[in-house]
Amino acid sequence: MNKFAIAIHGGAGTILRSSMTPEKEIAYQEGLKSAIFSGEAILKKGGASFEAVETAIRTLEDNPLFNAGKGAVFTHNGKHEMDASIMNGLDLSAGAVAGVQNIKNPISLARSVMEQSEHVLLAGSGAIEFAKKTNAVFMPDDYFFVQLRYDQLQQALKSDSIVMDHTLPDDKKFGTVGAVALDVHGNLAAGTSTGGMTNKKHGRVGDTPIIGAGTYANNKTCAISCTGHGEFFIRSVVAYDISCLIEYKGLSLKEACELVVKKKLVEIGGEGGLIALDTKGNIEFPFNSEGMYRASLKEGEKPFIGIYND
Ligand code: ASP
Repeated sequence: MNKFAIAIHGGAGTILRSSMTPEKEIAYQEGLKSAIFSGEAILKKGGASFEAVETAIRTLEDNPLFNAGKGAVFTHNGKHEMDASIMNGLDLSAGAVAGVQNIKNPISLARSVMEQSEHVLLAGSGAIEFAKKTNAVFMPDDYFFVQLRYDQLQQALKSDSIVMDHTLPDDKKFGTVGAVALDVHGNLAAGTSTGGMTNKKHGRVGDTPIIGAGTYANNKTCAISCTGHGEFFIRSVVAYDISCLIEYKGLSLKEACELVVKKKLVEIGGEGGLIALDTKGNIEFPFNSEGMYRASLKEGEKPFIGIYND
């Protein structure tokens, strides 16, 4: 039996102490804590890493503080188009959905694609058709309405810009959520879920549902979940690049993460971060922005919660 471990993120970006109130900070900490404990509960009883990943992400999707599920940002047309993916490091099976509307928990739909379809990625109306057949939970538009997100869209429309989660210069943040886990059987899994970017075009898909870009898991190397400016993460094939650096070049998890997030992404102007975990239980949280909402828990240890760059 291995020792289990889990790490989660709730987005990276310009997260500064100076722009945080004590109430807001506590709310984020509580949100991260309840997600990490929900994943831990699965791992503790010998559950599979992909089950823990799905459960932790569902908790974050149900929390309006994060840009996924309830709390997802608005598109240019005033809708919510959500992306999610999940991958099992044991057999490299994976499932993803892109541009789905009115789905309460996109990560669970991604899991259904992985387990109940012969495909990896279903998009738009095809994903919705599949969701109806698999009894996914649908919610009306007003469930996804969050005033802050609506105000962000109005601001983005004014400046005609496509922006990450928070548009205010002192509160820019990517609120995507993700989880990586290692279960007692030694298997890795990763998952990511997002509303994408405020004011994005109808049909725009980011890195989150792209296996190898925003999400990747392989028992031979590591499990990765990303958050940041999706276009750069797709172009850099971030998650798979880290796995390749470990598999083909023999880099450690830490070295691979540093090289990709602090150097390669920075060189092309890509802002964001990720969570990474390997089969030895090593955890990395590299990010090149001011902060990243993050938490981890290793069996028998106290949880770690982090927000700022310290
Ligand atoms: N990576 C996400 C996207 O580009 C955004 C985020 O991480 O907040 O859709």
